[in-house]
Amino acid sequence: MVELKTDTSMDEMYEAGQVVGRALTAVREAAAVGVSLLELDEVAHQVLRDAGASSPFLGYRPSFAPTPFPAVICASVNDAIVHGVPDHYRLRDGDLVSIDFGAELNGWVGDSAISFVVGTARAADVRLVETAERALAAGIEAAVVGNRIGDIAHAVGTVCRAAGYGIPDGFGGHGVGRRMHEDPPVPNEGRPGRGLPLRHGMVLAIEPMLIGGGTDGYHAAPDGWTLRTNDGSRAAHAEHTVAITDAGPRILTAR
Ligand code: MG
Ligand code: MG
Repeated sequence: MVELKTDTSMDEMYEAGQVVGRALTAVREAAAVGVSLLELDEVAHQVLRDAGASSPFLGYRPSFAPTPFPAVICASVNDAIVHGVPDHYRLRDGDLVSIDFGAELNGWVGDSAISFVVGTARAADVRLVETAERALAAGIEAAVVGNRIGDIAHAVGTVCRAAGYGIPDGFGGHGVGRRMHEDPPVPNEGRPGRGLPLRHGMVLAIEPMLIGGGTDGYHAAPDGWTLRTNDGSRAAHAEHTVAITDAGPRILTAR
């Protein structure tokens, strides 16, 4: 069931989204050669504490997961696409890092992700990250009353495919609200004009995931969480929580 949010609820979700935006900005600023993924997790955790917010990631255990998630960020490096578990790995020059983060404030969740290169960037990685952001922007532009879920999916997928990148099947966006994952699913590829009509008060996480090598295959790492590309190429992920309103899309996790 898709829950429509009131205008007041969307304003409250914006407050949760701003905590997410602050944390991602702080993590990005802290990410440098030699910094560990656990240190980045602590940076985000401190933003949650300062805001009086909690983590919808910490202890999260969906059906596919072997263990509760042990951190407040997902940190996915190089060939990791999403769901990377922060550990003692120290960032190296040229690493492509995706950080996914959620916050819960006053009972509402915000969910957002960024990708960036640490230190010296390869041209191919810059293009991959920029394309992820363009795919996200295209999805947001399609998130308007009168369109359907398939229009968002088509917009995202078209940008990814036109650039020659792969799209991992089975993972994508979702409704957001009191819980991090609500109906409806928001796929990263689809047919325009199909699916649920978009209405004022729907809040969606739109989150393109791109595989740089152009193939779609992925597998879970031995930790049971981290998804890695099958072709060993690098991946990028971008995400915002977006409210659909009669005045147009409102990015609740804007930074
Ligand atoms: Mg996320
Ligand atoms: Mg999400």
